[in-house]
Amino acid sequence: MQSKISAKLLNSYSENIKVNLDLFLEQPFNTTLAIADNIQRNQLYQASDLTEIEDYLHSAISDIYYQQKQISTISFGSEDKDYVGFRKNENQDVSLMLQDKRTDHELEFYHGASSDDIVDHSIHNYDPTIRPWYAPFAKTKTAGWAKIYSNVDEKNTFTISSISPVINNDELLGIVATDINLRHLSNFIEPENRHFKGITYITDNQSKLVANSLKAALTDDDNNRIQATESNNALIAANGLYIANTQLQNKHAPASFEFNHNGIRYFSRITTYENNNLQWFIIVTLPEDVLLDGLPSQQRVGLIAALILAFFGLLMGLYLLRIITQPIMDIAEISQQLDHNNWDVTIKEDIKLHETTQLISAFKSMSSRLENSFTTLRQQLLFDSLTGLLSRDGFIEQLNHPTTQQHGILVLLGLRSFRHTNNSLGQHKSDQLLVAIAARLKQSITDRVVISRIDKDTFAIFTPDFKDLEHSNDFAETLLAYFNRPFLINGTEVLVSTNAGIMSGKLDDIDIEAWLRNSSLALTHAFKQEQVQSCHYQDYMITASQEQTRLTAELQRAITNHEFQVYYQPIIDLKTDQVSGAEALVRWHSPTRGLVSPLDFIPLAESTGMIIDIGQQVLTQACSDTKQQIDKGLWPNAFSLHVNLSVRELLHPLYVTTVKQILATTQLPAANLTLEVTESRLVSQPALTNKTLEQLRDLGIHIAIDDFGTGYSSLAYLTQLPFDALKVDRSFVSQMLESKSHTAIIAAIVTITNVFNAEIVAEGVETAEQAQRLKQLGCRYAQGFYYSRPKPLAEWATENTQHKTLNNYG
Ligand code: C2E
Ligand code: CA
Ligand code: CA
Repeated sequence: MQSKISAKLLNSYSENIKVNLDLFLEQPFNTTLAIADNIQRNQLYQASDLTEIEDYLHSAISDIYYQQKQISTISFGSEDKDYVGFRKNENQDVSLMLQDKRTDHELEFYHGASSDDIVDHSIHNYDPTIRPWYAPFAKTKTAGWAKIYSNVDEKNTFTISSISPVINNDELLGIVATDINLRHLSNFIEPENRHFKGITYITDNQSKLVANSLKAALTDDDNNRIQATESNNALIAANGLYIANTQLQNKHAPASFEFNHNGIRYFSRITTYENNNLQWFIIVTLPEDVLLDGLPSQQRVGLIAALILAFFGLLMGLYLLRIITQPIMDIAEISQQLDHNNWDVTIKEDIKLHETTQLISAFKSMSSRLENSFTTLRQQLLFDSLTGLLSRDGFIEQLNHPTTQQHGILVLLGLRSFRHTNNSLGQHKSDQLLVAIAARLKQSITDRVVISRIDKDTFAIFTPDFKDLEHSNDFAETLLAYFNRPFLINGTEVLVSTNAGIMSGKLDDIDIEAWLRNSSLALTHAFKQEQVQSCHYQDYMITASQEQTRLTAELQRAITNHEFQVYYQPIIDLKTDQVSGAEALVRWHSPTRGLVSPLDFIPLAESTGMIIDIGQQVLTQACSDTKQQIDKGLWPNAFSLHVNLSVRELLHPLYVTTVKQILATTQLPAANLTLEVTESRLVSQPALTNKTLEQLRDLGIHIAIDDFGTGYSSLAYLTQLPFDALKVDRSFVSQMLESKSHTAIIAAIVTITNVFNAEIVAEGVETAEQAQRLKQLGCRYAQGFYYSRPKPLAEWATENTQHKTLNNYG
């Protein structure tokens, strides 16, 4: 920008100076022409008498052209080597210079304007026709500017002269010269320059200084004109040097350039100036600060105004942006509060804008609707919609909140076999039952007590009144007592049996959820025990439950990895003392636990349903082993394989199909297979189990009732039970020798089997005496450690069926 502005500025100054210079030089030039013309036209020149010209020139310089202050001398030189001229003194007076016959052809310098005045000094043998202002023009007979020369007078001042020849009939009479002192030229550009505080100087085509605005010397000490580079003004010299180095002067075209001088940056411009035969150069220079200072004030005002305007525009923009963004930021902030359940929505609405108002109102309505649905949702979450009691979450929240309680009793009431109740009453009535239970609990319980239905058939009751364990048990007993009376549902009396799990004591660092889990474990224990209705939580329960969880996982893995092995325990025909069959007993080879007894995992397998898979694996193995043994001739064709069967399996709808498939794949005839079912387990759902047992018998499979005598089944029940054999429980055999009543029972069982046309197997025979006694009682088959412990098939094979040992005892 600086360079551009400087170029423009310098250009305009240069042009300005040119125009003024034209004016400055043109007037004297025209004056010279007019004087020459006048001399010729009025024939003022008389050879050797310059009186008329003298008069005329006098009036010209002091009267006609008086206004042209730049004129320092007007003179006329003739071909006859005469000379007349007037020069202006400092005080604007004029004085005469004359050389003609009156001065005896000597050049006299008069003190005044007349030849009557005293002569200041004179020059001998002065020949005007050889002067630089005369000779060249005499030759060409044209008007023009003379080369700069120094006057012959005592001052030796340098002048530039405009020259015009006086010609009559093609004959040169003389030359008119009008001089301009170079000093005047400098004086002229000096005020021009003052406007812009720069420097202007003019050089001729030899780079010699013609004028400068600083009034710096144009000549050296010996009065020789100097080059710009020789100027005693450093800036002019620096400019000149730059121009000389870059030869700008030779290019004759205006040029702008920059240079550094004494750490200041200068912008310069060189322009040619031509006027008739004059060929000069104008150089204008501006220091940087002046340039900026030189910026037109209007521009400066404009710039400031633009800045102010921009500033206000910015303010306005920020203000508008705030109007738009503030509500959005407010909403964002409030949204975060909503996130923390703070529904109190207040938005500052100091600035109203249609769009943001809409946004705010939409947000408000959204948050209020959200609040409503949130409250509803919470309500649904915290309360049980059926009974109106607290839900599990509500219970936890209420008790977790005010931690004022330090002690408490938590009782979980579980309805026994509610699923069964649900099935027999139907959904609607059992719902009513639950409502009735809730109502009864609410009625009988004080305000301090918190009640909740935490699960379908489980109620949780919490009281902060805790004294000791006994008191906790009493509290549970009172609750259980509410269930002694039947509930009246649509006119039907329904009795509900319940169990209680209790957790009580100090609340401090234990949270209510842990209490719920503990009491739930206690409740599970209570459910399992038949004699007690309620159970207080004890630490072993959690370990037991954890162990069960672990065992369940491992057992599941055992099924997939086939970690089960079948052991066989021989069954002896007491008539022949020969092995007539074997009972298959499962063993678990656990990679972590070693050999695990079925007593340790069968109950869990039954409760989890894993027994289905285990039973299938055992049956398949046993059938295939037996088939193989028979085929090899190791076991007799009539070999009786006994496999234990859980009631859970029996209840499985696909059980019969599965057994059929196993027999088919293993190729074992059904007649070789006896399935043992424990008597006590059969009692629970006789209708279903009996039907399946019948189907199995239809296949040709035998059914043995295991652990017979421990299940308290009535003889009447026995008539409906489809069976082929009874297995006398070990407990009778073990006490047989000591207790007469046990012997009697065995005798009775022998009779029963005879009546029902079934076989009898005595279990747990450990001694020869027991075996002997059983024989006497008429028991056909026996099984026990006395004959053999259960063994893997591999160990069986070596022993074979010969049983030397058996024979010994027989
Ligand atoms: P159980 O059916 O009554 O099997 C007889 C149990 O008495 C076996 O225990 C056997 O080792 C043991 N025993 C045999 N002779 C004597 C003896 O002279 N004296 C004494 N004290 N005990 C004797 P085990 O093998 O530990 O099996 C325990 C129970 O596990 C079995 O009782 C049976 O109810 C169940 N079980 C075993 N294998 C299976 C199976 O594959 N499926 C099912 N569902 N249950 C099985
Ligand atoms: Ca058995
Ligand atoms: Ca048994």
